[in-house]
Amino acid sequence: MGFEVAAGPGLSRRRILTAGAVAATGMALALEGGGRQARAASKAPAIFYSPHQDDEAIGLAGSILEHKAAGRPVYLVLVSRGENDKLAEIMNMGDCKWLGEKCSAPKHYHKLGWAEKKSQEVVAARKAEFRASAKALGVDKVIDFDLPDDAFGDYDGFVKKIVKKVRELDKKYPGASHKFSAGWLDLTATHKACSDAAAQLFNDREITDVRFHHIYAYQQRAEADRAKGASYVLNIPPKHMEIKRKAILAYNTWDPSRNLYSLGYHSVSEWLENAYADPREFVYTLPDDYVFGRIPGH
Ligand SMILES: [Zn+2]
Ligand SMILES: [Zn+2]
Repeated sequence: MGFEVAAGPGLSRRRILTAGAVAATGMALALEGGGRQARAASKAPAIFYSPHQDDEAIGLAGSILEHKAAGRPVYLVLVSRGENDKLAEIMNMGDCKWLGEKCSAPKHYHKLGWAEKKSQEVVAARKAEFRASAKALGVDKVIDFDLPDDAFGDYDGFVKKIVKKVRELDKKYPGASHKFSAGWLDLTATHKACSDAAAQLFNDREITDVRFHHIYAYQQRAEADRAKGASYVLNIPPKHMEIKRKAILAYNTWDPSRNLYSLGYHSVSEWLENAYADPREFVYTLPDDYVFGRIPGH
């Protein structure tokens, strides 16, 4: 904590080390600073932020496994509670008119009798899927922000809550790298709120190592166009792809004894199927022309 205070407001220790390396204060200092920074970074975790249950399996899993293979501790954050009353309605409908033959429930039938307003059953079952996915991926720590998804209500308040939580994590784990959803591309309010929080912290120099994943690429774009504009395309090796597919399958598993009801598949089947088939992930840096705020119509 001592060096955090010494760094002064808004300027992280890493920034100061970088500034020191650039300034003409002698090569010895620069090398020492760089070495220390590298050692700190090697132990610091890579923290992945999944806006909802299922986003990590769709668009972060390959990168999670890449960081693990490189020896980095990997922490996985679930940002929102993922409330979704529509899913409760679907799971109460009896014969599955939603997925039909693709539904993994016995005889494609489910009448769960869940509350259809502010359904806590949906939140609990979605979290069970998330934990199963995180277990498949072998992350070192699961962190549940447990934030009510206010992206469609008090958007700015929701962003503030995310900022506060991410700031706390960065203080707790100095030198961490932070991986978010590319909300300006994903075009969904919860994802945009996450990237707004990251962009604010990055612009204020509170966090320095930030990347964004285009999680909706698998559904929005034809396969040939998915990588267009990406700063980096991760080609997921077959061994990691096998594990990513296990994480995806956590969202299409019917096992009431584990509170698993294929909710992910009833929610975003197209995303999950396309990500299952595409061994790539699409990584972005923060655009220079980044625009804050909720995207109109989304
Ligand atoms: Zn999402
Ligand atoms: Zn169904």
